[in-house]
Amino acid sequence: MTIILETRSLSYSYGDGTEALKDVSISLEAGKKVALVGPNGAGKSTLMLMFNGILRPGEGEVLFRGRPMSYDAASLRSIRRAVGMVFQNSDDQLFAPTVYQDVAFGPTNLGYAAEKVKRYAGFALQYVGLLGYERRPPHHLSGGEKKRVAIAGILAMEPEVIILDEPTSNLDPASSEEIMEMLDELNLGGKTLIISTHDVDLAYRWADEVILMKDGGVVRRGTGQEVFGDAELIRDARLKLPIVVDLYQELAGRSIVRVAKPPRNILELCDLLQSKAEAQAGVWGKIYICNVDEKDEKEIRAVLDKNPADFKGAMGSSAKVMAEKCGITIDFTYGVIDKCILKALIGKSSLIMTSGGMVEHTLQRIKDYGLESGTKIEAIGLMQ
Ligand code: ADP
Repeated sequence: MTIILETRSLSYSYGDGTEALKDVSISLEAGKKVALVGPNGAGKSTLMLMFNGILRPGEGEVLFRGRPMSYDAASLRSIRRAVGMVFQNSDDQLFAPTVYQDVAFGPTNLGYAAEKVKRYAGFALQYVGLLGYERRPPHHLSGGEKKRVAIAGILAMEPEVIILDEPTSNLDPASSEEIMEMLDELNLGGKTLIISTHDVDLAYRWADEVILMKDGGVVRRGTGQEVFGDAELIRDARLKLPIVVDLYQELAGRSIVRVAKPPRNILELCDLLQSKAEAQAGVWGKIYICNVDEKDEKEIRAVLDKNPADFKGAMGSSAKVMAEKCGITIDFTYGVIDKCILKALIGKSSLIMTSGGMVEHTLQRIKDYGLESGTKIEAIGLMQ
């Protein structure tokens, strides 16, 4: 286990005397998805600003990879490259006249040669699915597109950690899901992600670790199940329970389910309600997995004709771009694997379009589910 960010007895007051952080000591593991939750004014944004050196501790210290942060210009440049920050309001982040100039700003500022800047900015724009947007003015884009440009600007500096303050606020549900799914993909690629959010359902299903803050301090940290399993604590923090946990507690109260921990998601909740024997007696649908990196549009259409699926999902920007090119209507854009497993359990087959490291991840997740549940859902790679 590698600790990437740590605070020790960190306190901070703003100029007007507001105590925003009080004696916060936490450590964050590299490669995790972390969600800071808590009511307004809990100190989440202030803590995030500490993590990339925008604010400097009043008392205590912040450590990156075990070394206390320094606040001279060179150290700050290096920390801001390694720990990228995406602000809640994209208009606070985007300022250049074109999307390309905005994304190129970071690497240019780091002193990279023009050729390298072009390569990094191009890669970042492709990653967020915005190739072709280079000349557009950022302020003419939709909220979801602006958020993608802001993320691309950070990605172009190849950060190790990405911090996002309320990444889904003001976005419609589909745009929110696409952003969260992109964060999953970045995490699979090895990045550490830290978000703050009021959306308890999102924090619960997405985060490996939830940190609950209140009145400038950390009141609980743990898995979503540990933190949101404590209804009183959540109520005290002026939050609500994730819908899956709320439903689980009602069902447990009526002795309809009898397990100690709430389910993580709808798939696990359905499994609790259906006995293993019933599930094992089922006729399952298949899940086809198409690696879009290795196919062109014609090949993908041919694959689809040969393997008709009742539902289609796309994971990652390149899969979504490819689905659009092929004229394929996508049913699932978030939580794709679980949704396809749910469909397989009722005998429907699905196709998952994805790419890169997510292909292996998808196959593994379906295999693991089969082992845990005793069902034999077939995951078929359509790679050749
Ligand atoms: P959260 O992100 O959890 O809503 P913040 O970190 O924004 O919490 O705020 C923590 C506390 O600091 C709140 O009491 C807030 O009013 C105060 N605060 C935040 N920013 C400023 C500022 N620029 N000047 C003065 N007080 C601030």
